[in-house]
Amino acid sequence: MVANNGTETNREDKLDVLKSTQTVIHKALEKLGYSDEVFELLKEPLRMMTVKIPIRMDDGTVKVFTGYRAQHNDAVGPTKGGIRFHPGVTEKEVKALSIWMSLKCGIVDLPYGGGKGGIICDPRNMSFRELEALSRGYVRAISQIVGPTKDIPAPDVFTNSQIMAWMMDEYSRIDEYNSPGFITGKPLVLGGSHGRETATAKGVTICIREAAKKKGIELEGARVVVQGFGNAGSFLSKFLHDAGAKVIGISDAYGALHDPNGLDIDYLLDRRDSFGTVTNLFNDTITNKELLELDCDILVPAAIENQITDENAHNIKAKIVVEAANGPTTLEATQILTERGILLVPDVLASAGGVTVSYFEWVQNNQGYYWSEDEIEEKLQKILVQSFNNIYETAQSRRVDMRLAAYMVGVRKMAEASRFRGWV
Ligand code: GLU
Repeated sequence: MVANNGTETNREDKLDVLKSTQTVIHKALEKLGYSDEVFELLKEPLRMMTVKIPIRMDDGTVKVFTGYRAQHNDAVGPTKGGIRFHPGVTEKEVKALSIWMSLKCGIVDLPYGGGKGGIICDPRNMSFRELEALSRGYVRAISQIVGPTKDIPAPDVFTNSQIMAWMMDEYSRIDEYNSPGFITGKPLVLGGSHGRETATAKGVTICIREAAKKKGIELEGARVVVQGFGNAGSFLSKFLHDAGAKVIGISDAYGALHDPNGLDIDYLLDRRDSFGTVTNLFNDTITNKELLELDCDILVPAAIENQITDENAHNIKAKIVVEAANGPTTLEATQILTERGILLVPDVLASAGGVTVSYFEWVQNNQGYYWSEDEIEEKLQKILVQSFNNIYETAQSRRVDMRLAAYMVGVRKMAEASRFRGWV
């Protein structure tokens, strides 16, 4: 950071995901006619817990990890959202992510508010045993504020069904009964749901189909670029490839692959490691920056925040940008893309498939009655098509960009519920 340098500070502000989301929430509430008191209530999580988790590492030393759990707003219902294991986790980021979860739940109309967790760690350099100890230690540290009727965690970046299983087991021990509804994204044999693992990618695919219809683009033969090959990016590439689209570019944290004739997605899926790394197997790579600017019809940032900024938004060649990641496009870039006539499907809509099927998982756990894969798929499809069109029409009728329209739809129920409860 460069102190007292206006330009640097300005740049930092632009990349501050919490500030950006607050700016759009403020605009959305203003458009909907809510007072500043409502903004004061919704601009930060109602609760933020910071915990220290001491873990004995395999080499015998003790390492103290820092974790967070943010609960944005529980006016509508218990809070819900994933847990991220990543070296770049910050308090601000977890807060912003919890607000985005509230918006997602509002958009697809789930009886939840938003929550989010994170631990500063690098699971790529940790053993299985160390990861288990960290997962269990985190649950013990936050156990008082989470639970099936309070706050329900789930997977996020670098966490998976095995980690959910350890966490569920730890919570069940603390609570002294089998508690599958404590967490979603579990393995099927522990009360997980069909379709949860692929749900985020399915949701993004549904949004891509709807957006392509609006733009008059045939999915069959469309040239697609996907940034990120983790849970969302990898399954998404497969679904689009199977639907006849030509996936001409993919990437991981280390580089990107490009083939204008279409990449062999099945081969790449087979060779990727559990963290989504695959480009290390190739010599002929391009950078992530170059990948985003490739000539294509549809661009899907499915990796991390702040990838499309005012520095590269003018060079994006896609006609549709669908945000599978949380926060990949800055507000300035949103404006540039919109002015250039590019249809932007915002994160809080495009990536809402994950939490939607998490909700199905929780409902099944509460009922003890389990649904078929087809039932899940049909319900997800219906919800996301409706949500997409609701936001698209809001953007048209209120003459706002798709992000602001999504925030308007997403914030309304939470604001109303807070008002009815007498909070504002
Ligand atoms: N981590 C996912 C998200 O950001 C899913 C959350 C959930 O399933 O609760 O939407």
